[in-house]
Amino acid sequence: MSRIYYTKPSITELEVKYATDAAANGWGERCYDYIHRFERQFAEHLGVTHTIATASCTGAMHMGLAALGVGDGDEVILADINWIATVSPVVHLGARPVLVDVDRATWCLSPESVEAAITPRTKAIIATHIYGNLCEMERLLDIGRRHGIPVVEDAAEAIGSVYQGRRAGAMGRFGVFSFHGTKTITTGEGGMFVTSDPALYERVLTLSNHGRARGETRQFWPERVGFKYKMSNLQAAVGCAQIERIEELIERKRAIFNAYKQALAPVSGRIQMNPEHPGTQNGYWMPTVVFTAADHFDREALLAAFKADQIDGRVFFWPLSDLGVDGVGLHSDTPVAHAIYSRAVNLPSYHDLSEDEIERVAKVVRDFA
Ligand SMILES: *Cc1c(COP(=O)(O)O)cnc(C)c1O
Repeated sequence: MSRIYYTKPSITELEVKYATDAAANGWGERCYDYIHRFERQFAEHLGVTHTIATASCTGAMHMGLAALGVGDGDEVILADINWIATVSPVVHLGARPVLVDVDRATWCLSPESVEAAITPRTKAIIATHIYGNLCEMERLLDIGRRHGIPVVEDAAEAIGSVYQGRRAGAMGRFGVFSFHGTKTITTGEGGMFVTSDPALYERVLTLSNHGRARGETRQFWPERVGFKYKMSNLQAAVGCAQIERIEELIERKRAIFNAYKQALAPVSGRIQMNPEHPGTQNGYWMPTVVFTAADHFDREALLAAFKADQIDGRVFFWPLSDLGVDGVGLHSDTPVAHAIYSRAVNLPSYHDLSEDEIERVAKVVRDFA
């Protein structure tokens, strides 16, 4: 029986061809060619005016928040259910993360909890579209407008997710993406900063180039201390192939989710899977099963059952407030986040997963339920 990994990238001859070309020819005058092409194609896909390829999503978030002026003593609101990557830039900038509860229907930050957590020090709201599920952007953007606080999107998991005709990552003041090897499209490691705000773009562009402004004619003349979070041309070459294949990659993710949904229909009363609310499309980065609270549920036993069948199970993110990590402390009660995480697992979903393998995973879940 073959092992079923929880993710792995989809690499074809096209990625190999572009990467080979970049390694052979992408130097000197051509050392930015794939980077600029990838940035342009990603902007077109998303429907934004400006993009900056970065070394990681975390780096893109760090620069974006810095460009918004987030600093010492400021507060930034985000969901308690998040990967540490989303909160670490807030801590690095000397600001305080304010962790709020999630919504039962979306598993993303709850607009009521966000509004209740706003103080005069609130400098930004980070909307993370968890596992491809969309935040309630209309309500969050309205809260941001009324309080004069920018809403930014962590769309690392939301390639292929669309909210009322707009792609995830294109709705906030800025959005950030990850191309880590586990994500829907990959460059090995990598990320993207996106915005349609030209002034913010210029600030992040300067920050991303060690503080050197675009129009500066003096060599090696920074106007401030910046960052070094650039993507290399070699990585961007792989990205160019992936973005050319993006429709296919998104479709496959959606097909895998729908196959799981069908295979798990007999136990649908005992589980909740990633929602797709009216007016939205879910990119289904990670098909997830949450067992309903009425049942007894032993997560460790389910993970053991997966393991016995050579299947990689993956736990839902822990609430950040439970990690006990320094600086990640300020939070209110987050009962929904706590009710969900311990009853949930992610299912394998790489593009080459076969129908038989999906059935093998689904059978373990069905037997368990
Ligand atoms: C993967 C991920 C990140 C981190 O991305 P890197 O490219 O590894 O920095 C940030 N936020 C979310 C929601 C993620 O899933």
